[in-house]
Formats: sequence, structure tokens, C-alpha cells
Amino acid sequence: MDPAKVRAALKELGLPAWRWDQIRRAAYDQAVSSYEEISVLPAAARAALEEKAPFWSLTERRVEVSPDGRARKALLVLRDGKVVESVLLRPSPTRWTTCISTQVGCAIGCTFCATGLMSLTRNLTPEEIADQVLFWRGYMRREGLEGRLDNVVYMGMGEPFACYEQTAESLRLLTDQKGLAIGARHVSVSTSGIAPKIVQFGRDFPQINLALSLHAATDELRTRLVPLNKAYPLAKLAEALKEYLALTNRKVFFEYVLLKGENDRPQDAEALVRWLRGIGRPALLHVNLIVFNQTDTPHRPTDEADARRFQALVMDAGFKATVRQNLGRDVEGACGQLVVLEKAA
Ligand code: SAH
Ligand code: SF4
Repeated sequence: MDPAKVRAALKELGLPAWRWDQIRRAAYDQAVSSYEEISVLPAAARAALEEKAPFWSLTERRVEVSPDGRARKALLVLRDGKVVESVLLRPSPTRWTTCISTQVGCAIGCTFCATGLMSLTRNLTPEEIADQVLFWRGYMRREGLEGRLDNVVYMGMGEPFACYEQTAESLRLLTDQKGLAIGARHVSVSTSGIAPKIVQFGRDFPQINLALSLHAATDELRTRLVPLNKAYPLAKLAEALKEYLALTNRKVFFEYVLLKGENDRPQDAEALVRWLRGIGRPALLHVNLIVFNQTDTPHRPTDEADARRFQALVMDAGFKATVRQNLGRDVEGACGQLVVLEKAA
């Protein structure tokens, strides 16, 4: 749903502007899934609106549910037939989080990421990004799932800062008090490190959380894992982060996927600590160690003991470090596994 499009359609159809308020409430507060369900709208108006400003920019092809019900992955079809994936997770009994996509594919090409194995097909529109949240709210209502969906992470397919304008507009849609009304502090955007956009993001959205996908703290290794590092090496990233912290004074999360024998050794933890020390106060820097979800790549997950040793080294240096439990593996909906299969598309 694109509010500007709906309002323009109302005008074109000669319908009063206050109809928008009815549509808005039905869509955002009651999570209805079509104009048809909004009974206060005249029947003729419902069809005409769907024609001019379709209620949703995407439709469900299928939803896979994990055996414990805590993770669900949707295959969503866009109006041009392209397909993206979106994930709904329940980290605690009453709270739901969605992991949404910003692009069909991704051009960055991180070597361990399933999306990175595809190339970029296109950016999503702000409406397509935000509609993933609307979709899941509608789904929860239909399925009778209890609890609220009030956390959004931009960690699905694509690099949010490679389509900064679309991402920015979608953030405005999500946090609009008269729209989806998600609290800014409940939204996190994850980037592989487009340095200038990190600073711009700090200026534009000082309340929204930033996660940086680091994965290595030496340029040689990081360039191998995240090719974007050639354009924005670690020194540039550190500078951008310092500026970001000066602008926002907000905690930054560092994502670090542990890969066996590659970036999980004690010297890798030491390099990470050295690099972090150059950025800012430890209280503002939080390292999320991520257990690698197997993808069709030569990488292997770290042994648990090595993960704990790595975590201890980072914590001993005064930084927060957590090992992230990954929900969603059962539906291949965990981070980095989002990839549209040929047979599905
Ligand atoms: N493009 C953005 C956001 C999407 S990726 C980014 O890279 O930050 C979301 C997170 O999943 C990133 O931290 C990414 O590095 C991580 N990830 C990618 N592949 C993974 C895998 N196979 N196992 C675990 N995490 C992975
Ligand atoms: Fe793209 Fe993020 Fe995957 Fe890297 S990890 S290829 S930036 S989606």
C-alpha cells in the first residue's frame, strides 16, 4: 500500500479525502488484506481503487512453517512476477520480528551468502519493502497468531544502502504514526558497509538501529569475504562509524559470521578488538557473533568451542559480544539463506 497512490486514486475517482482515513485504519490498525474487506467503502469504490492503487504490491505464493512454529518464510510475488522472500520469527512467546528484503538478489557478492550467489535483478520499491510488514500482520491475523509484530530487521535479501532512497522512504512508511507505527527503536538496518551511506543514515534516522556486517577486521580477509571492502576498506568504515556515533550517540551492532578456520582464530579476535578500539567507547559497540547457516559454498561453521573462545576474547577486551541463536533454519529462512529457487520463481 502506497498512501500517496491511494490518496491520488481517491481524488481521481472523485471520492472524498476522508475515505483515506477509513482505508488507513483498516489497513494498519485492523490488518485487513484487501479493499473488499473494508465494508464501509462503497462496493464500486473498492474495485475501482484496486484497479488504480492496488491494496498490496505483493501476493503470497507460499509460506513455510518450521516444526516449532517459531519461524515462517514467505515467498512473495511482486507485480512484475519477480519473487522475494520474507521471514517472520518469534524470538519470545508474545513478540514477533520480521526480517525483510530490499532487493531481488544482491550485487555485493559476499562469498558465504546465498543471496550473494545470485546477481542483482532489481531494487524493491519503498511500497514493496513496507508491504512485507503489512503482509505478515495480515497473515498473523488470518492464522490467529497471538502477540504483536513490532520489530523489523532489514536483514533479508539485498543491501539496503545500495538502494538508499527506497530504504529511507520505506523506513518513513514503517515508522509513520498514522501508518504501521513501528517504533524507530524497534527497527534495525543491516549494511555490508557502504561508508558514505552510514553517515547519511545517522543524519536521516538517528533513532533507528544500525548493524554493520563486518565478518573480518583485516582488509585482506574482509576483501575476500565481502568484496565491497575494496571500495570501502576498514579505515574508511571506521571513519564513517566515528561520524555516525558523533551524530547519534547510539549503539552500533557488528555482525560477524564465524567461519571455521577462516575468521574464527584468536588472532582474528585480536584484530577485531584492535579495530573496535579505534572507533569509540566499548559501551556503544556490540558484536553479534553469528553461527554460519550452511549455504551452497565451501565455508563451514565454527565449532562451538571456537565460537566461545572468540566471544571470550572480545568480551575480555571490554566489548559486548553475543553468539546469536538463529531461528528459522528449519525453513531455510535464517540470515543468508534467503534465495529464490529457480523452481519456485
Ligand atoms: N545485505 C545486508 C543485509 C542482509 S544480510 C548485509 O549484508 O548486512 C543479513 C545478515 O546475514 C548479514 O549480517 C549477513 O552477513 C548475514 N549472513 C549472510 N549469509 C549468512 C549465512 N550463510 N549464515 C549466517 N549469516 C549470514
Ligand atoms: Fe548482499 Fe548482505 Fe548477502 Fe552480502 S550478506 S551478498 S551484502 S545480502
